[in-house]
Amino acid sequence: MRALRFHAAHDLRVEELAEPPAPAADDVLVKVAACGICGTDLHEYAAGPIVTPVEPHPLTGAQNPQILGHEFAGEVVAVGGGVTRAAVGDRVAVMPLVFCGRCRYCVRGLPHLCDRMGCVGLSLLVAKNL
Ligand SMILES: [Zn+2]
Ligand SMILES: [Zn+2]
Repeated sequence: MRALRFHAAHDLRVEELAEPPAPAADDVLVKVAACGICGTDLHEYAAGPIVTPVEPHPLTGAQNPQILGHEFAGEVVAVGGGVTRAAVGDRVAVMPLVFCGRCRYCVRGLPHLCDRMGCVGLSLLVAKNL
């Protein structure tokens, strides 16, 4: 697939990447229909890396380059074997935060403050160039 990836400030590159793998048991694969460009993305482009990982992310293992864009919607095109609340063909808006579920914030119901929080479109992608 073709993607625009952030490598460093003022360094965006259109690249050919491997197709995403089949989703893990509790994951879904979403074909993006629309994606916003957030102030976070603009700051990352102008002065980053700020929140994109220059070393492997402690929760996701991802690091730059990343495909920016964390405010998006689309259609579910594949689901993992353990997914029960989404099905192929569902139109979805995505809550992009990825959290550990075990830290002091997550156990208090505050996953948006997770000590190791990641985010789709900033610190989740582990994609290989073709
Ligand atoms: Zn945003
Ligand atoms: Zn946490």
